[in-house]
Amino acid sequence: MTSRVIAIDGPSGAGKSSVSKRVGEQLGYLHVDSGALYRIMTWQCLVNGIDTANPDAVAAFAEQVTVDFSPCDGKIAFYVNGVEPGHAIRTPEINKHTSPVATVKAVRDRITEWLRDMTRFGNLIVEGRDITTAVFPESPARFYLVASPEARAERRRLEEVQKGIANQSVEDVKKSLLARDAIDSSRKHAPLRKADGALEIDSTFMTLEEVIQTVINALPADWRTGL
Ligand code: C5P
Repeated sequence: MTSRVIAIDGPSGAGKSSVSKRVGEQLGYLHVDSGALYRIMTWQCLVNGIDTANPDAVAAFAEQVTVDFSPCDGKIAFYVNGVEPGHAIRTPEINKHTSPVATVKAVRDRITEWLRDMTRFGNLIVEGRDITTAVFPESPARFYLVASPEARAERRRLEEVQKGIANQSVEDVKKSLLARDAIDSSRKHAPLRKADGALEIDSTFMTLEEVIQTVINALPADWRTGL
């Protein structure tokens, strides 16, 4: 049997991670956070002194980055030199540099190849910016999750505080989110957009449970039961 892929795209802070994790848990699909791979690429650029504003330098370096993958606790875990990067890839500095790195075609091609290869591990729920449009456009289960900028900034701020990553004002978080959205939506290669045929869900006034149910109810009937 070929693997099933549930694909979820949307702007920063729309709730993709929480929804994907929970739907994955309920149905027994492995959660894949594709944004973490773009963050890892960016983190490795910074650690190795690569200028993230220089696409040629980033493209050349991208070929050398190695990430190992393995299923672990309901998700595909990512390892760099045997270690999971953790909060090191969630800092405001990484937030700022990731969207420019993600405009580079060589970076996108490499990560797209990694993501497609992960289907060998089983059924997946993959979240990101180009999953429904470029990585798995053939999936019959594609979603575009949105929320107002204010709701997204508030959620992301809370998450950063709870994880002890940063304590920024809502305004600063909103600025950073909108700056990333602008780069992600206007880039040449695989820009963020709603795919034709994807179901748009606006989560601004919905609870997490309601969004999860909306996703599950929209799946093909034989995808809805756990394994
Ligand atoms: O989802 P997350 O906020 O961690 O993603 C970080 C950044 O990685 C995004 O702002 C975007 O620039 C890039 N990204 C992407 N394509 C994906 C996932 C993330 O370009 N599929």
